[in-house]
Order: sequence, then C-alpha cells, then structure tokens
Amino acid sequence: MHNAGLLALLALFPIADSVVPPARPRLIVVITVDQLRPDYFTRWKSQLTGGLGQLANEGAFFTQGYQDHALTETAPGHSTILSGTWPAHNGIIRNSEGVQDTLAPLIGIAGPGASPRRFRGTTLFDWLKAADPTARALSVSRKDRGAILPIGHAKEQVYWYQSGMFTTSRYYSDTLPAWVQAFNARRLPFKAANMTWTLLLPDSAYQEPDSELWESGGSNVTFPHRLPADSLRAALALPGFPAIDSLTLLFALDGFEALKLGRKGTDILAVSLSGTDAVGHVFGPDSRELHDQVLRLDRSLAWFIKRVTDRVGRDNVVVVLTADHGVTSFAARTRAKGGTAYDVFLDSLITSVNAELDRVAGTSRQWLEFDLGMLLMRDNGRFAAMGIRIDSILDVLTPRILRVPGVARVIKPADLARADTASDPVARRWLHHLTPDAGVALTVSLQPGSVWGYSGAPLASHGQPSDDDTHVPIIFWGSGIRKGTYATRMNTVDIAPTLAALLGISPLSLVDGRARTDALMPRN
Ligand SMILES: [Zn+2]
Repeated sequence: MHNAGLLALLALFPIADSVVPPARPRLIVVITVDQLRPDYFTRWKSQLTGGLGQLANEGAFFTQGYQDHALTETAPGHSTILSGTWPAHNGIIRNSEGVQDTLAPLIGIAGPGASPRRFRGTTLFDWLKAADPTARALSVSRKDRGAILPIGHAKEQVYWYQSGMFTTSRYYSDTLPAWVQAFNARRLPFKAANMTWTLLLPDSAYQEPDSELWESGGSNVTFPHRLPADSLRAALALPGFPAIDSLTLLFALDGFEALKLGRKGTDILAVSLSGTDAVGHVFGPDSRELHDQVLRLDRSLAWFIKRVTDRVGRDNVVVVLTADHGVTSFAARTRAKGGTAYDVFLDSLITSVNAELDRVAGTSRQWLEFDLGMLLMRDNGRFAAMGIRIDSILDVLTPRILRVPGVARVIKPADLARADTASDPVARRWLHHLTPDAGVALTVSLQPGSVWGYSGAPLASHGQPSDDDTHVPIIFWGSGIRKGTYATRMNTVDIAPTLAALLGISPLSLVDGRARTDALMPRN
C-alpha cells in the first residue's frame, strides 16, 4: 500500500491522541438566569427534560460555583460574569449605583436611562474584538443591568424590556434597528392580557404546597395566576410571569437571525432571564410557583438551544449557563420550619443617627445612607468641619446595629484586610466587593436565613454574603468542553478567562479569575 492510501485509511480510524482539535467556536451563548440556585438542578432533576437538563447532563457542571462577593444583587452579579473581575475592581457594587444614567435616555419610550458608564475595565467581547475586528455581540435581558453589564463598554446590540417593548439607550444608538421595531410592532406583551399561568405538569408532579402564608403578600397565592385584562397593565405585569423568559428568548432568537450571528468569525450572544427572580422573590424558592417557573424555563431553553444549534451547527457553539445570585427563603417560612430568621430593618436606627447629627450640625442632611449591608458616608470633610471624628460615630453606631435581631457582624472595611480569607468567607466576599472609593464606612452582614426587610410585603430575598445567596450553577456546554461534574470550587470571575482560553485570546486588562482549563479539551 502506498503512503497516500495508508494516510486515507488512518483518517478513517483516528486514534484517540490524534483526534483533530476542535476549531474555535463561532458562537458563545451566555445564559444568565436571574436568581438560580444550584439545588434546583437536584431537586427537580428527573423533571428537567429540556435545556437546563441538557446543559447539566451533557456539559461541564461546576457544582461549587460562586458569585464570591458580598452584596449579591443583579448588577454586581452580572458585572463579574464576562469581565473576570470582582465588583471591587469593576466598580459595580450595588443595583442603585449600577447602570442608571440620565445622560443615556431610552429610545422610543419613557423609562430610566442606562449605560455602562460606571463599569470599569474590559470584557470578553473586548478581548474577542481585539483579536477579530469582525466579532459582534447581542445582549438581551428583561433588565437594563442584565443586558448592559455582560458586554461592558462596547457599543454593540444591547436591548432590554421596558413597559411592553424591547429598547436600548442613546449610549448605544439613536434608533432601533428594523428587526427590533418589527418585534415590538407585534405587541406580544399587550396580547398577553388575560393569559393564565397554569401548572406545566399534573398536580402530582409538585411536592410543594400551593398556598403558604408568606407567599405574595397574602394575595393571588394559588394557581392559576392571571395577567390583567387590560393590555397595558398586562405588559407591565408580564415580568412577574414565566412568559417573560420565553418572550426574551424569542426576541434574542430574532436578533440572532437578523444579525446572522455565528456564521463566520466568533460572536457573543448573551441572554439574561429574570422570570425566576420575579417569581422567586414573591413566592420563594420553596414554592410550587418557583418549581413550575424552573420547569417552564427548562422547556423554553430547550427550544432556544435547538434553534441556535440547528442554525449554526452544534460543533460551532459553546453555551455557558450561570446565575447572578441565589436567594434566601422568606424569614417567616424559616421560622415556621423551626429556624431563626428575621426581616431586618435598620432604617429607624439610621434615621435617628442622622437626626442626632442634624442637631449637632444645626442643618438637616442625609449624613449616613444604608443600602443592603453597606453604611455609606460620602462627605467625610463635612464631619471634620463639624469637629466630629467619623470613628466616634461608628463606635456609637456599631453596638446599636449589633443589637438588632438577625445581624451577625459589623466590619469596618479597613479591618477586612486582616481577615483570613480562606476561613472567613464573609470577610473575603466583602473584600471582593468594595471599591476603595465607595465611601463605605461599615459593612453589616446578617445571620444565615435573615434578609434585609422591605417596606412592602416581606419577600424571599438576596443580597447577603451567605452561601444561599452566593452559590450559583456554572455550566459550560458544547464545542471543546470536557463533559463532567466538577466538584472543585469555581467562581463566576473564572468564566471569562476560561472562555478566553477556549478561544485562544487574552484579556486586555487585569482579571481576578483564572481559566479552568480542566474543563477544556486540548486545542493545539
Ligand atoms: Zn438578579
């Protein structure tokens, strides 16, 4: 047999070591589920026959995934995923100082302006664009922060839901492209008026009681749940129903088709889905509603992944699935089950200290501001002018805060540096969170199970440096990914460096995460 024939024969029977390395994928799909806890994958494992099940069973599932920062909210959570940096370095430390930007109004509708101006650093898309100038990104979410932060500063295709339509802000564009206008013209959210949310599976498939005292502020507690009959009110209420996720995926798929993503170089398609967050807050992680929401998300994702992989080719796609944070159950439920938990309010305490400072200063100001565990003192110079040492205020305040039921720890940022970050996850998560210029004077963390209270009906909530709120699933699936269950710890800041390694590109700025090459096939 001559050489050419031998080579042809060998090609028919490749031996393991000479398998052709996978080419660079053409599409990176990043799915962020707002408020997804990893235990949902085990609790409802046999019922996850759709996209969640597919990704979990066929992908590299990191079961010890963490948003390893302190203030576990949507904006900080989304900021870590494709930047590879902690909030301490990317500057997004809370929702209320996230993407709001009055200089970047929305297009075609009233609503809060938004842009990535507070975000510091670069993201995976910037790194990709530097290597391949033809690369493009589409990022879609129900929430502005969920769409904007994964892409960073790049003026790409970034859209979110506002009052019945998908739009963007003038940071990105002055007009909406034809495909977005066409989608909005279908007025699907308005046509959802009177739509009911019923159980996907027979009642017997749900072990959770449908009616619990703490759910939904005591009203509209049981199935079926119905959208308002008025079309505008239906469009405004839609984000509280599972249909918001199928709508977001439908919109994302329209964009994917219109932009022809993944057909030549490598593009990024980021989708953030917030139905789980809305249902989880109102009904809780232990509710029948949340169970059904996750099943419906599973089915919607199956549809979406199939449409994308059918178009681009399964070998050309990598999907990453993670979450921006977890959730803690209702404090009332924890108490009903025999545990100790509180809805913690510090408002009256902070108000009384502000009033004391008003008396000393002879003028009224918001001297201290408190937001989800951060005590902010922005204008230190003014205290000095009044002859007040800030430490003396904090020394008076700290024992008062520690006496509030549910409060576990009060730590000054300066003391965090001395903490043992291996054995003290709360201190480590605050270190990962606080920027030096945030103006945070004290951090306050709650006992596990307790949540910060809200003015309305109590909610299941997140925002703590607890395992319930920081533990998230991280799954890689598709081309070049080594399937399996990975029980070693991984943080969400590792996702972007891992994708960069997969793509053979390098970060353009310092990252806090590291590439998890153990989940990647060799690529030479
Ligand atoms: Zn969120």
